[in-house]
Amino acid sequence: MGLEYIKLGKSGPKVSVVGIGTWQASGKQWGDDVKDHLIVKAIGRSLELGVNLVDTAELYGDGHSEKVVGRALKKYGRENFVVATKFHGSHLHYEDVLKACDASLKRLGVKQIDLYQMHWPDPWEQVPLKETMKALKKLHEEGKILSVAVSNFAVRDLEEARSALDGVEIASNQVRYNLLQREIEEEVLPYCTKNGISILAWSPLAQGVLTGKYSPSKVPSDRVRKRNKLFERRNLKAAAPLVRVLREIGEARGRTPAQVALNWIISRPGVVPIPGAKNPSQAEENAGAAEFKLTAEELQRIEEASRAIRISYF
Ligand code: NAP
Repeated sequence: MGLEYIKLGKSGPKVSVVGIGTWQASGKQWGDDVKDHLIVKAIGRSLELGVNLVDTAELYGDGHSEKVVGRALKKYGRENFVVATKFHGSHLHYEDVLKACDASLKRLGVKQIDLYQMHWPDPWEQVPLKETMKALKKLHEEGKILSVAVSNFAVRDLEEARSALDGVEIASNQVRYNLLQREIEEEVLPYCTKNGISILAWSPLAQGVLTGKYSPSKVPSDRVRKRNKLFERRNLKAAAPLVRVLREIGEARGRTPAQVALNWIISRPGVVPIPGAKNPSQAEENAGAAEFKLTAEELQRIEEASRAIRISYF
């Protein structure tokens, strides 16, 4: 079974049902095993397997991730990719959005960004959303961006942004979504589904918890995951029964727990996971997550195990 492709939003680009995230390419904050050349190869391996969506941000490594993605685009052919990047939460004023876009275009080495995402809504509401959206409309009109997109937007933010965009579609909302963190199912996911906005799921592997390789006696020591409550002992213990189910289902299907966890996301209409990969072998495994279909019984088992978990953030 080859990879399938879906259109983002009502009129956005066609993307593979699984993408690749590149926050990992921001230096050593994801660990000492991060190497730029391996991430370039991971993007290349993903492409060979049909994955065309690559996600980055100006924030990641202060532009470094975009440069690494740029190297991959040059090596493997820009035309083969749907390039998604994001502008930072401190660049929300009209002129700053335009400048941020030019800087991203330069680092990526492209003439157009396929999906330009506002990284998160202004928590202090100092810059009116309509000012930021006006800049996105301008970039869209100029052709510097193909599609307008957002990230970490609640329903109220989406409503306001859509009204300010006045007819220009929001192709996608990139939000946290995995079997341990399903908060978007309450409001954001139904709203996006109803209004033809696709979801890009970040941290689809719960930053590695769902791969089954971590446990209370084996936790990653990098800066990013030291801050992530999911790696606290009680949460890893709470997640263990679900990881067991993912492993059992995977073993019966010749798949890994990570592939089963990603396939669960792929099974949700309009939702595209963007797992971060540090090397070609992770990229290959993640692309393989789209090559099978979980049965209704398997999905039900996963659902029950997932629903039984309460993650603690205190
Ligand atoms: P993730 O994709 O859930 O986890 C990525 C980590 O899991 C990798 O660094 C790797 O770390 C491990 N991994 C990946 N594939 C694996 C495999 N097949 N087998 C074993 N381990 C594997 O988490 P994420 O990086 O937070 O999210 C993915 C992407 O979403 C990011 O790269 C970024 O593009 C985007 N993102 C966006 C936002 C936002 O606010 N919009 C926030 C976060 C992330 P180890 O090998 O070290 O365990």
